[in-house]
Amino acid sequence: MKSLSIKARVAFWYAFSMLIVTALIFALLLIAGSTTAREDARESLIIATDMAVNNVKISKGRVVIDDDFVYYMDHTWIVVSRDDGLILSGLMPEGFPDDVPYEEGSIRQTGKGDNAFLVYDRLIENQKVGKIWVRGMTPIDLAVRDPAFYRIIHLFMVVLPILICLSLAGGLLITRRAFLPLRRINETVATIQEGDDLSKRVSPDNTAPGDEIHDTAVAFDRMLDRIEEIFEKEKQFTNDASHELRTPTAVIRAECEYLMENVDKPEEVMESARVIHAQSMKMSALIDQLLTLARADRFAIKPNLQKTDISLLAEEAAFALAKPASDKGIRIHVDAPEGIYVDVDPYLMSRVLENLVSNGVKYGKEGGNLWITVTPFADTDGKTLKISVKDDGIGIEEKDIDKIWERFYRVESTGRIQGLGLGLPLAKAIVTAHGGTITVESEFGRFTEFTILLQG
Ligand code: ADP
Repeated sequence: MKSLSIKARVAFWYAFSMLIVTALIFALLLIAGSTTAREDARESLIIATDMAVNNVKISKGRVVIDDDFVYYMDHTWIVVSRDDGLILSGLMPEGFPDDVPYEEGSIRQTGKGDNAFLVYDRLIENQKVGKIWVRGMTPIDLAVRDPAFYRIIHLFMVVLPILICLSLAGGLLITRRAFLPLRRINETVATIQEGDDLSKRVSPDNTAPGDEIHDTAVAFDRMLDRIEEIFEKEKQFTNDASHELRTPTAVIRAECEYLMENVDKPEEVMESARVIHAQSMKMSALIDQLLTLARADRFAIKPNLQKTDISLLAEEAAFALAKPASDKGIRIHVDAPEGIYVDVDPYLMSRVLENLVSNGVKYGKEGGNLWITVTPFADTDGKTLKISVKDDGIGIEEKDIDKIWERFYRVESTGRIQGLGLGLPLAKAIVTAHGGTITVESEFGRFTEFTILLQG
């Protein structure tokens, strides 16, 4: 059996609680009202009956009833009768049973429901006239004793079901509205499942903002944004990677075919082998970078931290790129005080520095400069080392500055310069794995400066 929806359960519980609370209040009122009515009945019965007894006299062998005698007072009826039941004076209330025996001085109840009475008998004995009974009778029904109060309770009984229905409807309405975003989340998930369309959103904008379920829907949408972004990036990444690998593979295949046709020509063979070697180097560099990036995605870059002379790493990077730099007439200046040791992975960090210096050379001007500066310092973040790689080369335009960190992104105007667009994302992944930050500042046509901040 399908269990009730949360909506219905909340609404029913709401209505049920209301019913219980009102029923309790109702019962308490009724008990309080009946108790008061009974006490009130008892009191007025005694007063009226005792007063009546005082007004019944025996004179000269006859029963004489004073003018002050009151037959009815404050819901109490008085009857004076003989022992054989003959009524001498007074009125019997309607519905009072005929056969209630007399009992001197006792107050007791007779009859039920609307005809429930308290009865009180007083005996006057006289030798000449025999036994004379003065009987007081008063109803204990709340409807008779306190009609206004009784009417309120009656009204309450009529209003109660209406109140419960209203609270049930109100509860259903409120929960329906509150749970609307949840239904939308369900629908969104179903649509995404059916159509693999990650662009669907819950968009809970027309529901009351600020409640927990609305916040959940907003968070769900944010999560979908993020998943879609990652999914798109992955798709792009796979496309770009296969595209980058296709070119060298095609070249290698073509060169192999050419080689097979010209095995007897040593010069051709040599040339083809050189091309194949260059392409395979490119492929292995690409695969290496892709692997490191894939590991970074799984937070799996685990730097093998060692006390490393960072100035030495800077010198080595400058040295590694000395040849291409001098080919372009670029002068590399290293400003790194000796003996600055930091806990880094020397292999990974030298890849970062070489990549930055290599970029500085690649995108530097003929006859330009490249500065590598290492500055120890301290700030509140605890970053204690700044490494800057700055060139006075072509610079980066404002529109590209944020995108250079994306995989395979290459600034269009630098297309003819060899590169894969993986160096900077890789540098960022490595620096982040070290708990550091890397930023860029550039002015198009003037300079580019990369700054790494590391913890000491
Ligand atoms: P690659 O250099 O292999 O293309 P990178 O990820 O290292 O890939 O750099 C991405 C892009 O950023 C480059 O294609 C280039 O357009 C731009 N870029 C990087 N470094 C510099 C620099 N020092 N000066 C100007 N442009 C740069």
